[in-house]
Amino acid sequence: MRHPLSGILSLLYPAKCVACRRSGAWLCAECLQRCTPFGGARCAKCGSAGGSYDCSTCRVYIRNLDGLRAAFEYAGPVRPLVHAFKYRNMSGAAEWMAGQMIPTELTSAREDDVLVPVPMHPSRQRNRGYNQAAALCGAIRERTGLPMALALQRAHLREAQARLSAEQRWINVHGAFAPGASAIEGRVLLIDDVCTTGATLEECARVLKLMGAAQVTALVFARA
Ligand SMILES: [Zn+2]
Ligand SMILES: [Zn+2]
Repeated sequence: MRHPLSGILSLLYPAKCVACRRSGAWLCAECLQRCTPFGGARCAKCGSAGGSYDCSTCRVYIRNLDGLRAAFEYAGPVRPLVHAFKYRNMSGAAEWMAGQMIPTELTSAREDDVLVPVPMHPSRQRNRGYNQAAALCGAIRERTGLPMALALQRAHLREAQARLSAEQRWINVHGAFAPGASAIEGRVLLIDDVCTTGATLEECARVLKLMGAAQVTALVFARA
């Protein structure tokens, strides 16, 4: 794997571990060991803890999302990493994070697979400098050669999901996305940095299915 510190940027901005501040990498080897790989007793459809497939959350809320894969659990040193990536314009970490997100079977991806990032509202993107989901999506495209489509856009600026309760998130996100392209075909790999309840991903999947997607599987860096 190519080291994320390659290139001139590393001379200007030497990476520091986001969890312990040690110099050398976004996440040092010691802190990386304390990260929990995603897995165990998880719902294969929405990624909730405690289910196997079509869990109690799925039965109430999930109608369109077909599956979810994550690199890590959103816990331990993964939390400050995701936070720094979101709020401190740490776009240089995208390549490393994308490498962690790509499941082995993607190397034999089907021809009709297409990568779609969860969009960010333009005003929020102006404040933050970049859309972290699009940065991850671009890095995954580089590594897999799969096409990427900006198939979704934000319909309205909503209250940030992070400030809302789990229940409120499902209500707040409804209607938040609109088609950003005329149509989409085949199997969509929906890319985001973190999934907390699945509300955002399900709403994106709903719009993508209306646009013609046959299947929508989410690929995220971390799942709560
Ligand atoms: Zn560390
Ligand atoms: Zn589920």
